[in-house]
Amino acid sequence: MNDFRTAGHAAVDLLADYLGGLPEGPVWQEMDPAARERLLTLPLPQRGRGLPELVADIGADVLPYPMGNGHPRFFGWVNAAPAPAGVLATMAAAAMNPSSAGGDHADVHLERTVVRWIAELAGFPHLPGAGLLTSGASMATIVALGTARSRAARQLGVDVREEGLAALPQLVGYVSAETHSCVRKAVELLGLGSRSLRTVPTDPAGHLDPAALRLRVKADRAAGLHPFLAVASAGTVNTGAVDDLAAIADVCAEEGLWLHVDGAYGAFGLLDPVIADRYTGLDRADSLALDPHKWLGVPVDCGCVLVRDPVELRGTFSLVPSYLRDENAGGLGWFSEYGIEQTRPFRSLKVWATIAASGREGIASDVAHCTAMARRLGELVAAEPELQLMAPVESSIAAFRFAPDGVSDELLEQVNSALSVEVQRRGRTFVTGTLLNGHEAVRACLINPAVTEADLAVLVQEVRAAGADLLAGLSAS
Ligand SMILES: *Cc1c(COP(=O)(O)O)cnc(C)c1O
Repeated sequence: MNDFRTAGHAAVDLLADYLGGLPEGPVWQEMDPAARERLLTLPLPQRGRGLPELVADIGADVLPYPMGNGHPRFFGWVNAAPAPAGVLATMAAAAMNPSSAGGDHADVHLERTVVRWIAELAGFPHLPGAGLLTSGASMATIVALGTARSRAARQLGVDVREEGLAALPQLVGYVSAETHSCVRKAVELLGLGSRSLRTVPTDPAGHLDPAALRLRVKADRAAGLHPFLAVASAGTVNTGAVDDLAAIADVCAEEGLWLHVDGAYGAFGLLDPVIADRYTGLDRADSLALDPHKWLGVPVDCGCVLVRDPVELRGTFSLVPSYLRDENAGGLGWFSEYGIEQTRPFRSLKVWATIAASGREGIASDVAHCTAMARRLGELVAAEPELQLMAPVESSIAAFRFAPDGVSDELLEQVNSALSVEVQRRGRTFVTGTLLNGHEAVRACLINPAVTEADLAVLVQEVRAAGADLLAGLSAS
């Protein structure tokens, strides 16, 4: 173990330098073509090398080319800077390397606790066994919607696990155009077909319209279909819009639909008292998908699914005959009875470390800082004649576009469709692009609590400069 100790110290030094040095370097840079080629064509080593050499290779060939998340001026997609406590915990978890499928070891009990903590942070009611950590929200969504499908089938007198979909009438679910694509993926995988999803209209800011939902459900029922699911967003990826969860929960209660809330990006926004009201009704969902690897900064991967009814969840996935159930841990059995994975990584340690390093108050103040900075960005954009804010800033995402006066619509769309890549290429900040109400736009997602007002000024300046360059280039051609 002496090798490990020496190389391990070197690795920690390397990572401390890496993390500490991030703000000084470019946010992102295109990979040096030779370095890229080197990584792509690495031959299978015939002989082993020592740990110190491997650590040196990581420093030379890998760390210089990050995705960019970790830098305070990275605002792309929904990708977080890793919490240092989570980074260290990842190393310890790998050293223990259990399978968190079940049993009586520290990791399993810690997972019960961090799932309970996550539920408490999100203000979601939690019974023991009513949730688990997953690879991300996509997997959390598959688990949640699989559970919704089981319940719907059971109510129709069908055991979908045994009889399959052929025994079921047409189930239909409701989403909006702003619903994350992982919902459609889950519905496709569950064999329901994406045609079983109805897209309910949204208002201009991107909120699912609860009245329209009610009408669609009634119409589908009248047509002999079986509405079973509605998906609401607690923070959309494009604009951070939080749906009217209470009104949607009312419709679901009236119509007997399973309410799934996608809180992957935004659910933890409710920790900010300034915007907490927007989340009223979240606690009425039947299931909630979360991503500790986003706003909480837990190193990837870590999603979480929470359900109201642990019996329904276990009934959907458990393949252990009841007479073999392990009655340890209060009769909760194994995590592998609650989801898809059998061998499961020790995710709970990095969640524990990340939450424990900040405490509830620290997390809440980080979240509040991000939403305040996002609102400030909204003001800076609104004050800039060349920029146009595309939606109100509701949580911590600002969507906007470069739109100086006197430029044709067509040219504006061309400029804005190239804008995010041009900003990224310049290396001083990083935004990603999207399509909003038919317009090309860029969006900045603020989930790194290290962001400052000075960073926002650079962001605005870079978008303007990149936009002006693109406009000049396109006008000349
Ligand atoms: C990121 C995200 C997802 C997908 O989660 P993964 O962790 O990437 O699998 C789903 N919904 C929303 C709103 C997201 O932000």
